[in-house]
Amino acid sequence: MKSWLNIDPGSDFSIHNIPFGIISDAGHNKRVATRIGNSVIDLYALSKLDAFSELEVLPSVFKADYLNAFIAEGKTKTNAVRIKIQEMLCDEQSTLKQHPELLKDVNDVQVHLPVKVNDYTDFYSSIEHATNLGKLFRDPENALLPNWRHIPVGYHGRASSIVESGVNIHRPKGQMKPADGPPVFGPCKLLDFELEMGFIIGKETDLSESISTAKAEDHIFGLVLFNDWSARDIQKWEYVPLGPFLGKSFASSISGWVVTLEALDPFRVPGPKQEPEVLPYLQYEGVRNMDVNLDVSLQPQDSEESIISRSNFKFMYWNMAQQLAHHTVNGCNVNVGDMMASGTISGKDEKSYGSMLEMNYAGKKTIPLSNGGERKFIQDYDTIIMRGHCEKGGIRVGFGEVRAQVLPAK
Ligand code: CA
Repeated sequence: MKSWLNIDPGSDFSIHNIPFGIISDAGHNKRVATRIGNSVIDLYALSKLDAFSELEVLPSVFKADYLNAFIAEGKTKTNAVRIKIQEMLCDEQSTLKQHPELLKDVNDVQVHLPVKVNDYTDFYSSIEHATNLGKLFRDPENALLPNWRHIPVGYHGRASSIVESGVNIHRPKGQMKPADGPPVFGPCKLLDFELEMGFIIGKETDLSESISTAKAEDHIFGLVLFNDWSARDIQKWEYVPLGPFLGKSFASSISGWVVTLEALDPFRVPGPKQEPEVLPYLQYEGVRNMDVNLDVSLQPQDSEESIISRSNFKFMYWNMAQQLAHHTVNGCNVNVGDMMASGTISGKDEKSYGSMLEMNYAGKKTIPLSNGGERKFIQDYDTIIMRGHCEKGGIRVGFGEVRAQVLPAK
């Protein structure tokens, strides 16, 4: 595919990508858009020029605060829209080429939260991460709990505090327990990130219906980068035995452009061998992991960025199809816009750990920064930036970034 538009070959938003998001600017309310290179295309304005009328997608689904109505049109239509945009970007005679005013610089618009998330689930599907945490907090000899290789472990998270890239986060306050003394209340001291990816449900199910691994991807619209902010000191005191609560629920950040499963299709790779063999409802066919290069940068105030982790989504032990099959095996229904996060994505070596807790061995080591500084956990005014992209045979498809600065406790 060759576009008439000049696109930086290093851009995450190549013609092979065509993600979806929500934009607004001074003159226009929120609407559905796509991003190509450093430009965005107002799909509501494009739809009013009858660009998608043959696909039977009405302009009204593009004039929306969130992508949910567009996603609910179904994969056949949303992917047809994506392909139609690609065709228009290659066709010198297209409506889009004839209306250059529909292309805007991404820096001239506001990019908003792409989906209205009503339910959010966080999995715990990286064997390296689960092993590292088990060693640090439980038993170095038996780091994984007995269920871990049999069940894609997860918990129900908080949807209301999911925010888009660029929304800054206040350090949470809460109850913590010093090693020697009674519980205290105050700003969290051990603030951390978790490098994750999230997938967004594109097709609902009824109550008591289950999704098979074979059908799971029909229900997945696309993916975003996901930062599961974590207050380790609050978490450590509250989580036994029920699981995460206020140590997690204060905020989660996602990237603004939803990259479709179709755009990620060329970057599939086999997942790790699962041993012992999983129960039949978790068995799957096909190639289900995705080769997405991920990194995390920490940028102190008025200083340069340091890349402190390089990981990859392909390391996941449990894939998305297995996660969704497990999530619904008890009959729990899913809805369009539900968010399913992967869990922290760590690799085998310490340069690929997806949280500071693992990098600093639960506070025993420091993490060096390129400006000469060091960190154990996140300090006030630090900015955390996560980036992700796929690359194969000269084709690049990426997510851009999810970024947020940590501000002092309110
Ligand atoms: Ca997590």
